[in-house]
Amino acid sequence: MSGDPGSGPTPATTATGPATVTRIAKAAWVAAWDEDAATHHYLNDIDVVLVGDRIGHLGPGYDGPVDADIDGRDRFVMPGLIDVHAHPSTEPLKKGFREEFGNPRMYMSPLYDRAFMLQTDAAGQRIGLQYAMWELLRSGVTSVVDLSFPYEGWAETMAGTGVRAWLVPSYASAHWSTGDGHSVDYIWDEARGMALLDEAVVVGRSAERDPSGRLSAMLGPAQIDTCTEELLAASQAAARDNGWTLHTHAAQSLVEFQEMTRRHGVTPVQWASEIGLLGPDCILAHAIFTDEHSWTRWPGRTDVRLLADSGTGVAHCPGVFARNGQVLEDLGHYVRSGVRLGIGTDSFPHNMLEEMRQAAILARVATGDVGSVTTGEVFAAATVGGADLLGRPDLGRLAVGAKADVVLVDLTHPAMQPVRDPLRSLVYTAADRAVSDVFVDGRHVVAGGQVTTVDIEAVTAGLQSARDRAEAGAAANHFAGRSGLQVSPLSLPGGRSRRIAR
Ligand SMILES: [Zn+2]
Repeated sequence: MSGDPGSGPTPATTATGPATVTRIAKAAWVAAWDEDAATHHYLNDIDVVLVGDRIGHLGPGYDGPVDADIDGRDRFVMPGLIDVHAHPSTEPLKKGFREEFGNPRMYMSPLYDRAFMLQTDAAGQRIGLQYAMWELLRSGVTSVVDLSFPYEGWAETMAGTGVRAWLVPSYASAHWSTGDGHSVDYIWDEARGMALLDEAVVVGRSAERDPSGRLSAMLGPAQIDTCTEELLAASQAAARDNGWTLHTHAAQSLVEFQEMTRRHGVTPVQWASEIGLLGPDCILAHAIFTDEHSWTRWPGRTDVRLLADSGTGVAHCPGVFARNGQVLEDLGHYVRSGVRLGIGTDSFPHNMLEEMRQAAILARVATGDVGSVTTGEVFAAATVGGADLLGRPDLGRLAVGAKADVVLVDLTHPAMQPVRDPLRSLVYTAADRAVSDVFVDGRHVVAGGQVTTVDIEAVTAGLQSARDRAEAGAAANHFAGRSGLQVSPLSLPGGRSRRIAR
């Protein structure tokens, strides 16, 4: 419907004409951004108006021209969530396989002998990416950081899902190997690491030229223990040349912690500090095994301070670790120390709302303190915290001038009822079930709970087939030639096995 064109703000124009104006009218609850207080706060019964790719108005009584009107009287409106760490091209294949998967002889980490048993081709990766973006959009994510080894069609497929994304091409100087399942060998090829860095720069620059305008890049030297100091330094220089952030895994397992203390005599975080890697243009996933983690038994308490003082970002992905019995022990200490924090899904499910729930609950379990982190602090990490890590003050918040990355939650959904505090109802109970609409860059990509950009029936069929092929070949990717079923038996005895190689 259209309002009186003479009575309100003039719509913005774009290269193709006037921008589309969408009004979410009289929104019952809104998590709006209070710039002065630097916090989200609740507002009630206001109009949220999207003008093109920006938020044009936030307040009562908008009476400017409108192209599309949405009744907000039974909606909670919040900023799009930011998933700062995911591997969407490969993780969806692993559902049913890696939930109870940690290697007890590697301090519960699955990384070194089994995490890469299921492999797929570029077609399978594109399917996985589409599936994961469908999940993320359904859980209110509008921005995602995708760490993948480059493959054919990566950028085009990502752009097609309608999400805003940072492509992080991964590479390393070494890969992990094991001959016995309880110790890690590093197979080094330093020249190859340097060559892959050059290729990653090309991939990143190409992504930034994508016509969607929604793709950006970072550089992803894969892990602190698989990259030489030279590769990390060259990566940092290349990232700075291009205005990009550097994103690597560090302090993600006790095996890695012990390897780095063996090599250097200091913790992974301290070594990163010593070589000049830490800083506002560096993100570490997952920064769990620091000198304050009880498993490491390392003297001193300096790692969290180094992270905070340097402005280094931490991508916190609690779910995948918790399934294997690992936890970042005092998230509240990170928050109160001033560590710049974002939240990521890392593996499946690509469900940010469930990840946020786990971030809150696991922090309280690990400390025995309900006050360890609050729901508001977790919401901040999943929105403005992630935006800060991405260097994007126009994301993660509902404010005039910010990007129109907006999520609508159906307050009438039974899982949201009764309504008192919609954010708590969403995070602790309803999760993705109550997400009704999502806008990215002002484009309506989830409507009535349906993702408009992904043909989910075709994608799930393709995903099943890619998964089945991957598991048929799994034994070839295990050091002792064990099958997928031997490494990860089904959760109950019996069951049909036609899709599982024995
Ligand atoms: Zn990761």
